[in-house]
Amino acid sequence: MKIERVETFVLHVPFPRPVQDSLYVEAKWRVPAVRLYTDDGLIGTGYTGTWSGDEMIKQSIDIYMAPLLIGRDPHDVRRIWDDIYWSRLHWVGRAGVTTMAHAAVDIACWDLMAQAASLPLWRYLGGHKSEAIRAYNTDGGWLNWSVDDLVRDMGQMVEDGWKAVKMKVGGPNPREDYRRVKAVRDALGPEIDLMVDVNQKWDINTARVWGARLQDFDIDWLEEPLHPDDVSGHAALARELTVPIALGENVYSLLAFRDLIVAGAVEIVQADVTRLGGITEWLQVAGLAGAFNLPVIPHAGDMVQVHQHLVASCPNSPMIEYLPWTREIYEEPAKVVKGRIQLPETPGASTTIRQDAVDRYRVDK
Ligand code: MG
Repeated sequence: MKIERVETFVLHVPFPRPVQDSLYVEAKWRVPAVRLYTDDGLIGTGYTGTWSGDEMIKQSIDIYMAPLLIGRDPHDVRRIWDDIYWSRLHWVGRAGVTTMAHAAVDIACWDLMAQAASLPLWRYLGGHKSEAIRAYNTDGGWLNWSVDDLVRDMGQMVEDGWKAVKMKVGGPNPREDYRRVKAVRDALGPEIDLMVDVNQKWDINTARVWGARLQDFDIDWLEEPLHPDDVSGHAALARELTVPIALGENVYSLLAFRDLIVAGAVEIVQADVTRLGGITEWLQVAGLAGAFNLPVIPHAGDMVQVHQHLVASCPNSPMIEYLPWTREIYEEPAKVVKGRIQLPETPGASTTIRQDAVDRYRVDK
């Protein structure tokens, strides 16, 4: 099997409603994607997701990565990974734009390998979980909801069968965060897993005081309380608070995860296959986390499509983040029943994007 052609495009897929976290308000998910066409007729699809920089991600693939891919056998994925990583992009990359472009290409290679083997990726990876995978829902509890809307929204997810849900904190006034979390916990009762996400907004003092106070509500983890590069700050919080510290959606390499893990700065590893250099690097991070007996609960940058396969093949991955955004663009959107994902049996990585969605949402024409 040889790659003959590389096609890229960018989709802007609208949300049903604008959402706000502690950093941004947003109304659409930007999806830079790549298709690898092979000489045996298979087409591998990879993509990443972002709130900005989508055009730069596409350019990184078009200008720098595509010439390295033509004529290559995707089964050579680890060598291809190295060739891209150590290309001249290394001068300007190693995190962010180029790593996300790298992720898209790497995911497309794994999609091709699984298709060529006529197996869903999770079986190709030797996945050991044939039962449904536990998921938690993040599409609620946004900061732009009033307390009434917040409680109604979180309650609706539980009524729909979700047993684990996450809400945003990190607003301008931590006392207001406290009241919002209390209102949600009171409404949901003690049996539902509840997580809170600061999205990097706090400084260390705020995190010490308010992280400790939010423990009153039996939260299951405190996510990204500080800037993701703050290894020592997160390590200090992990030592001082009983609530586990979760992070990883803004960590771009195996080595960065190593430093966080060795320092004891992360207790829930939220590795994202679309932010790391794809599946090749995600598997290494998951193995590293396993060696430290840490759970991997991936961030949903891929909208669950790829991660469902990876979680199914990772023994230390007990749960997956679910977001319903962009479901309509996939040939086979992840199937969720009462908070559990039913694994697909279609060969590949579940990344195939419908052509009518490309025609409708493409912005780089
Ligand atoms: Mg988050």
